[in-house]
Amino acid sequence: MDRIYLDHAATTPLSRQVFEKMAPYFTDTFGNADSPHALGRKAMGAVDNARDLVASLLGVKPSEVYFTSGGTEADNWAVLGGAYAQKAKGKTHVVVSAIEHHAVLYAAEKLQREGFTVTYLPVNEGGRVEASALKAAITEQTGLVAVMAVNNETGVIQPVRELAEIAHEYGALFFTDGVQAAPYMPLPVREWGVDMLSLSSHKFFGPKGCGVLYIKSGVKMERFVGGGEQERGLRGGTTNVPCVVGLAEAYAQNAGTMSASNEKIEKLARLFLQGISSLQGISVNGKGEKLPGVLNLRVEGVNNVDLLYKLDLQGVCIAVGSACASGSIDPSHVLLAMGLTESQARECVRISFGRDNTEAEVERAAEIFTQTVENLRKF
Ligand code: PMP
Repeated sequence: MDRIYLDHAATTPLSRQVFEKMAPYFTDTFGNADSPHALGRKAMGAVDNARDLVASLLGVKPSEVYFTSGGTEADNWAVLGGAYAQKAKGKTHVVVSAIEHHAVLYAAEKLQREGFTVTYLPVNEGGRVEASALKAAITEQTGLVAVMAVNNETGVIQPVRELAEIAHEYGALFFTDGVQAAPYMPLPVREWGVDMLSLSSHKFFGPKGCGVLYIKSGVKMERFVGGGEQERGLRGGTTNVPCVVGLAEAYAQNAGTMSASNEKIEKLARLFLQGISSLQGISVNGKGEKLPGVLNLRVEGVNNVDLLYKLDLQGVCIAVGSACASGSIDPSHVLLAMGLTESQARECVRISFGRDNTEAEVERAAEIFTQTVENLRKF
């Protein structure tokens, strides 16, 4: 069966050209990038080039780019490393938005258990953090504020620049999770004025298990992974050379195709909505400035997990945008924060388009979606 993949916010396929650039670093140029011999130096040369490329695309210095094992590690490190360093200045209050990825929420909960005070910022019903919420929460004790650039379940763009400015007025660090924004929009790191920003390569057609944490020079951070002096002594572990090469290549490729693919994706999302327009009781979650490629839909009267599996049986891959914990599917914390009830949140699915989707695929997926919803509603 030909699969129709509409789950690009979960992951994307590795680009073939990127894979080809990575391949020699698995087999021929396999040296440890920290070895002083020729094979090591060659590997380190590739890592340096990758770092330069990522830095130039972000408009930052190469020394501000740290490679990690992915978005989760970068998020954990930003929140924990930033908070611990700020504790030394007596700042033990942390502010994170209620709609952050679990990688940020996990770190915030850990800090709370360790004696930090944590405030979770609410969002408006459109899914956006308002500046007034941060103004009400922040104090002179606040060491770190974390608000993602774009939410991964709704595609809603957050007012990062405005929020970073408020954080800085109080001497707090500002971290933004850029994982979901990176595939679809340029990240003006300097203009935003953020102190830290995370990326994950598999969201923009790069390899899984590789990410970046940008740390502005001068920002004091505790190391997160110890036991090696890699990444300027802040992140130990033998450098994953093929993946670092792949991340940089994929990010550059994505930057080159971004505006054309955004146009295409916007059309595809519209086409999908037209294709399901005969259905009643459909609403789009998330309002205001949004990414083109992420559609979060509430389908009244239909359980989202049932819908996901019925679509899967017919070859259509979508997401429910919820965390799967010990076999049970929790309603999405993002949708609950936006004011949906638990039962409404269990009616919501996420459909996310990518640059390789075709109009024919999307039309077919909309047909299958419509029929499946009609059938599920009958029963
Ligand atoms: N942050 C966001 C917003 C994400 O969507 C994800 C991936 N689901 C992550 C962090 C974690 O990234 P990774 O999969 O590379 O660990």
